Parts: sequence; C-alpha cells; structure tokens
Amino acid sequence: MWGAILLAGGSGSRMGSACNKVLLKLGGISVIARSARALLPHVDRCVLVCRAQDREALRASLLEAGIDPDGLLWAEGGADRQASVWNGLQALPAECDMVMIHDGARCLVDDATIENVMRSVEGCGSGVASAPAVDTIKVADAALRVLSTPDRRTLRTIQTPQGFRTELILRAHRCADAHGFRGTDDASLLEYAGLPVQLTEGSRGNIKLTTPEDMKMAQAMLAPDRPLPETRIGQGYDVHRLVEGRKLILCGVEIPHTLGLLGHSDADVALHALMDAMLGACALGDIGKHFPDTDERYRGISSMKLLDAVVALLDERGFRVTNCDVTIVAQKPKLLPHVPRMRANVAAALRLPEEQVNIKATTTERLGFEGEEKGISAQAVCMVQKTV
Ligand code: MG
Repeated sequence: MWGAILLAGGSGSRMGSACNKVLLKLGGISVIARSARALLPHVDRCVLVCRAQDREALRASLLEAGIDPDGLLWAEGGADRQASVWNGLQALPAECDMVMIHDGARCLVDDATIENVMRSVEGCGSGVASAPAVDTIKVADAALRVLSTPDRRTLRTIQTPQGFRTELILRAHRCADAHGFRGTDDASLLEYAGLPVQLTEGSRGNIKLTTPEDMKMAQAMLAPDRPLPETRIGQGYDVHRLVEGRKLILCGVEIPHTLGLLGHSDADVALHALMDAMLGACALGDIGKHFPDTDERYRGISSMKLLDAVVALLDERGFRVTNCDVTIVAQKPKLLPHVPRMRANVAAALRLPEEQVNIKATTTERLGFEGEEKGISAQAVCMVQKTV
C-alpha cells in the first residue's frame, strides 16, 4: 500500500512573501493544492506536514481547490526537513509499506515522473526523481576558487518525489539520528546508512518553487494550458433613496449635502453598482448574495470595506479587474469636484492605475426620480481578466 508525505513546512523567506510559499497561487490554484492534486491519485494515504500556524490556511487552500483536507493525515513540521519527514513517517499508517516523499513546492511534477519513482520502488526498494545536469558543475572553495570539475555525464540533479520501501527509509532515519547526520534530501540518509539508492527519470519541468523568478517560470510553463487569458465583462446597477439625516457617501467620499442615501450599509450606490459589475463578470451573483442586508455585520459598514472583500473574492478565483467605468446619476449636489478623490479611492481598492478607472456624473434634466431628487442611481461596467 502506497503512502505519501507532502512537505509544506517552509516559511517562504526566499520567496519574499509573508505567507508560506505553498499558499501562493498559480493560475488561481495554490501551489500546495496543485502538488496534492498531482500526488493523490497515485497513493492510498497522504500525510501533509506543516507548521501548526499554517494548518488552517492550508486546509482552506485545499478545500477551495476541491480537495477534502479531512481526507489527508496531518503532521507537524520539525526543525529541519529531515525532522519534518520523520514526523510524517510517524503519522503514516503501518499498512503503507511504500512511501513517496514530495516537496509541496514542486507542484509541476508530472504523472510520468511519479510513475517512474513508484515502479523503481516496487522493483528495487528505492526510486529518486532526477534529471541530467545541463550546466557544468564546479567544486569551489569559499573564495570561489575552482577546486575541480566533475565529469558532467556522471552528475544528476535531484528532485522529488523520492520513494522508498517504508522500512528502508525508517531504518536510514534511525541510523542518521543515532550518528547525528543531517542530510539535505531523503536519499542521502540511505546513502549514509550504506543502503543502495536508485535514481529515476524526472522531468526538467519539475522545478522547486523557491524564488519569485521560479513563480514566473512556473506561470510561463502553465501558460500553454491557457492560450488566451480569459476576458470577461460585467455590469451593475443600483438605486438608493435620498432622505434627511443620512450622510451622502459616493465611492468612499463623504459629500456635503442636505440629504443622504438610505440603506443598510453606508448606501454608497456607486460602489454597489461597481461591485455588482465585478461579481457579474465572474458569475458570482451580486452583493445581496455575499453581503445580505439582513446581516447585522453589514449595518452601517463602509462600502469601501465591502469592495476590498469583493476584490479578495475575485483574487481567490484568479480574476482581476482591468478597467471600470462608473456613472452616477444625481440632480444634486455637483459631484465633479469630488470625482478625483472618488477615482483615487476606487483605483487604490482595485490596485489599478487611475487611468484605468473612470468615474463620471450626470443629471437627468430634472426628469425621473433622480431629477426629482428622490434618489440617486449608479451604473457600472468593468472588464475582468483571468490572471494566467
Ligand atoms: Mg445598494
């Protein structure tokens, strides 16, 4: 029976990101979810090893990609990779007589690489994904003086998965622990214990995502799956009644006026139309569905906060707004002097340059409810693009 240990313990320090790098998204799907998707169809049980503080975020990230986090076993990360793998091995059910250990950050691993590892373990007890070294490798001292040049034909770069008969990797760990040996990969523990290690063919694309450049490379590698970035359009429309004793807030700007808009939130009609356009473009319903006016949490809330939440919703699904155009229909007051601040607010929330945000106001020549100053309406359109 096959087990897998998926390592998600890193801090992301080399990625320059505040969160664990395996939580970063590629094409709207997190790195860890992509790794789990690659591995899970091949194994009976899988242990995910992570720091305790990352567990909730990892669970949410998997769930979002359609992977049930309760279908996995969970183990706590250790002080280094070796300790994390050991914890993972302890969490693995005893029936798993074979195990693959995989870096969560190698999410581009393909089926052939995994199958090569599994066949090798079934045949001879170990299988370690590797690729021929394409660069010439030199051994150098601390001052970068070359000491030697090993024959490149004998060199292989080592990847994961690294697969073993469970009993062999456990024995290798015990031997390393007994002698205080720390290895940078799993195979080196078997080597240290004098056990044979068999390399298998990996893939040049099976890169470990460590730096922001790696993320860009991975995005480019995924690009052939998406020849054209998906472009979508959305529109929104909203009306609020003008009453006495309420503030008039449009695009997050409080505008001095004798009347204000009535509503459960701050009744920012312009942002409501814009949010509906954004949600509409992504087929995510409308703001009434996401922020119901029966929910006390949204009473009096600034619609700028709701806009941030809508941007996050789009982010999670891999969408970003590329431009928007909002029309506010009001007889009074004069809105033109406030448009620059409204535009700056919206641009900042959408993380767009101001040139991609248009806010305009019009009257209705005193016709209709807007003209009679009974209410203000707003319309918005926006373009949304899938981010890779
Ligand atoms: Mg509204």
